[in-house]
Amino acid sequence: MACVIVLMGPQGAGKGTQGQMLAKRLQAPIVATGDMLREVARSDGELGRQVKLIQESGNLVSDEVLAEIIGERLSRSDCENGCILDGFPRTLPQAKQLDGIAAGRNLDVFVINIEVPRDQLRKRLTGRRTCPSCGTIYNVHFKPSKSDNVCDLDGQPLQTRADDNEQAIARRLAAYDEMTQPVLEYYRKQGKLRHIDGTAPAEEVYRGLENVIAGFSS
Ligand SMILES: [Zn+2]
Repeated sequence: MACVIVLMGPQGAGKGTQGQMLAKRLQAPIVATGDMLREVARSDGELGRQVKLIQESGNLVSDEVLAEIIGERLSRSDCENGCILDGFPRTLPQAKQLDGIAAGRNLDVFVINIEVPRDQLRKRLTGRRTCPSCGTIYNVHFKPSKSDNVCDLDGQPLQTRADDNEQAIARRLAAYDEMTQPVLEYYRKQGKLRHIDGTAPAEEVYRGLENVIAGFSS
């Protein structure tokens, strides 16, 4: 049976990379909330105007509006055999809405939580340095540049994103945990939640992901 695979995990857990590898393998699209919202905000029509206004005011798009956008996306033909969701559902009401949408399209929902210990996540996020000139991303802990704070390729001084400071990251991670705990619990009770270890190199994490998916469908 076709299914919606929900990738869960905080910023820095590697959802983007894993999602891309999985999409290629399953020949299914990645439906990422951030991309969807940007697409909708650019579109004409009432919904596009609403989303644009909400975003400009710095507020979060409501569960209802998000569900409408995701519902529309899942009704397109490329999602007939399922898709990979990244960034939705983030809250319990969103999870319930997704179940309704999926049931209406005869899709099963499976949730995979990519786990990375918080101290490692903090290192991944606070250690990040980017080159403003060529966009290369370094990490002082895991992938340092050859000489301190200078790009290997073009010698430009590396930058830290303003929202990558320790406090902001700790706040974001705590907020993420608080918001998503009920979602994980909701799917755990239904037997639809699996955890994978996100600390290994990407290829290894991906093998874990494939194993878990093979288990779902058997
Ligand atoms: Zn550079």
